[in-house]
Order: sequence, then C-alpha cells, then structure tokens
Amino acid sequence: MKDRTRAWIDADRRHSWHPFTDQADWEKRDPLVITRGEGVWLYDSEDRRYLDANSSIWTNIHGHSHPKIVEALQKQAATLCHSSYLGFANNRASELAERLCSFFPEQTLSRCFFSDDGSTALEVALKMSLQWNAQNGREGRDGVISFEHAYHGDTLGASSVGGVSRFVKGYGESGLPVYRVSDLSDLRSLPEVVVETISAVVIEPLIQGVNQMRLWPSGMLSELRQWCYDHDIHLILDEVMTGFGRTGKMFACQHEEVIPDFLCLAKGLTGGTMPLAATLTTEMIYEGFKGEGRTLYYGHSYTGNALGCAAALASLDVFEEENTLERIEEKGLLLESNLSNLTLRRLGLILAFETQDGVDFCHELKKQGVLTRPILNTVVLMPPLAINQHEIEFLAERVTRVANV
Ligand SMILES: *Cc1c(COP(=O)(O)O)cnc(C)c1O
Repeated sequence: MKDRTRAWIDADRRHSWHPFTDQADWEKRDPLVITRGEGVWLYDSEDRRYLDANSSIWTNIHGHSHPKIVEALQKQAATLCHSSYLGFANNRASELAERLCSFFPEQTLSRCFFSDDGSTALEVALKMSLQWNAQNGREGRDGVISFEHAYHGDTLGASSVGGVSRFVKGYGESGLPVYRVSDLSDLRSLPEVVVETISAVVIEPLIQGVNQMRLWPSGMLSELRQWCYDHDIHLILDEVMTGFGRTGKMFACQHEEVIPDFLCLAKGLTGGTMPLAATLTTEMIYEGFKGEGRTLYYGHSYTGNALGCAAALASLDVFEEENTLERIEEKGLLLESNLSNLTLRRLGLILAFETQDGVDFCHELKKQGVLTRPILNTVVLMPPLAINQHEIEFLAERVTRVANV
C-alpha cells in the first residue's frame, strides 16, 4: 500500500464519520479511497479500477467526469460559482427552471423551487402543501399519508414521513400527523374523519428504492392520482431515485401519464456531479403564496447554486446528444438476460436480487472489481445509464462469478 493511501485511511479513521455506517464495523476494515472516476469506472488510491454498479448511490447518469459536464462546470466556475438566490436571479437557475418545467404540459408543473438534496426537495413539497392548505381556506389539513417502508430522506421532516423503522429509531415522530398505509386498498379504507384532515399523499412512484427495490403493481400510480383528485388531496411524487431516466423514461410518472401536484427531483439532476434538488409544482400552488403573510419561509444558503444548475443543464444536453433514454430498456434487458441464472426484478436499469448475505456478497464483488451496496440481503445493480454493452457483459460476468461460489 502506498504511503499516501495509508495516510488518507489514517486521517479517515481518526477524524471522519460516515453516513448510515456502524463505525465499529467501519474501523475493522481498510476502506477503498476513491480518487478518480471515468465513465462507469471508479479508481482507488492504489489505481485499481471498479465498475460503479450503484452509480455512486444512484446519482450518476452519463458516467464519471463526462467531458460535456466537466466543461460546463469549468466554464461556470470561472464565471460565477454562486450568488444568493435570495433577492437575485441568476442566469443558470433561470434556464434550468424553464428547462425542467418544459418536460411537462403547459399549465401543469410550471414552477420550480430549488434546494440541495433529495431530503430538502421533500421538505419543500411537504411545507408547501401544508401551508397552502392552511392559508387557502382549507384549514385543519395538517396530516400526511405515506406508504409503509417508504424512504423519503433523512432530515427530520422527510424521515418522519418515511416508513423504514430502522432509520427513525431514536428520533420518534416529528409532530406531523402521518398515516402510513400499505397499499391502495388500505388507503381506501381510511375513515372519512382522517381523510378530511389530510394535506398530501407522498409516494415513490413505480418502485420503492430503499425498501429493497419493491415494485408497485402497474396502474397503481394512476389510480392513486385519481383518488387524490376525488378527495382534493395533493399528490407528492418522490422521484429522487427514479428521475432522469432510471426507469426507462425521463420520469417514472410518465409511464402512467400521471402529473402530481409536487414533483421532487435530486440525485440524477446534475448527472451525479453536484448536490442540487428541485421541487416542481403548479401555478395554483404558487398563486396561493402571494400577498402579505403568505410567503413560503424556506431556503438555503446555496439555493439556486449556479455551478449545480450549469451541471444540470449540461446533463440534460447530454441526454439529447447521446439519445440516452432510447437505449435504457435495451441495456436493462441485456443485463437481465446475462444474469438469467438469478431470480431478479427489474425496472429500466434498476435491478435487484436476493442473496444469503448482502454484505458478504458485495464484499466479494468488490474483489472482482465491481462496487455496489446491499440493502439488507438485497443486492442492487444500478449502473450509470451510459454503460455500454461490453461493460454490461463485464458486470454480469463478475456478478455471476460471485453468485456461483
Ligand atoms: C435518496 C433518496 C432520498 C433522499 O435524498 P438525499 O439526496 O439523500 O437527501 C429521498 N427519496 C428517495 C426516493 C431517495 O432515493
């Protein structure tokens, strides 16, 4: 091991604290120190290369250090890195807001509120829904319906609507009345006295990510949309994971032609390069915040960050230039057919299968040059959308090798 690798690991051991990590386990093994990325490959400080099979926790889209995005970032960095969105507009944020809204029919999702991460995109949607109801003649609607085992992020508000018990242990409830339902029929059986107090329903459309990649039955999303219309309740779609092509379409809601009241975007928004999030909503919601005493008091220091917006614009350009969306289904099928020895589930380029021990399996995969993270005993394969045929075959071959031991 090189001296500087040792030094980096030692510094990590002495001073760092990693997310979602039992640091007692962490301290038992030397971590990889990632120093470089190119395409679907990550390189460690010893110059070993690994296929990034979970797109760096579901963020990367076009591969690492994509030249178009790098160029856009370099240009933007030399021009303007950040200026406050509080009191000023900036050219890149203007362009990106317009571009994101243009994915949806006119008079639907026409307003974009920027924040920094998936969790904050959810916080924004929840606060907007609750406050909109409170100040637009619909007082008493302070409840939220979410789905069991859902994941919506880790900030206090976002985690309180989530349903993964191991992530909220120790914090209790946030004070928000949250009703968790298991499915549509459970939702339909909620008593009317509860339904009358609900501001919004929040869901990960088509597939629950952190819940070991569980797929919703097809048609469920459009039925939920109808239920929300019928009861005059907002629909918040958390497309933090599913957005930007993972499922084969730009957004998962497009599979069932559903348009929500709030659409939360983050992870893939910048192609996996910068932390940036967006909450899209309708003109009706927007109008309900105008006038004295009706302001949405929400924002962060880095809201509308110019570097993040420039990266997101470049990523959307790459989608067009490389016809990224057209080949996702084909790539997903190829990976699936190369893994026909496994029982797996798939949506677009999201694949998952069960193992005896997820941690061991991923540890073995790492030795074979493939990086991914298990969710309990589920192994997730979610490579960058830019993965090519040769790389898909490599990935499948290595996974098969580990599965057959
Ligand atoms: C990752 C994720 C979040 C949280 O996003 P962060 O950027 O990690 O805060 C929320 N919802 C879903 C569906 C996610 O996959």
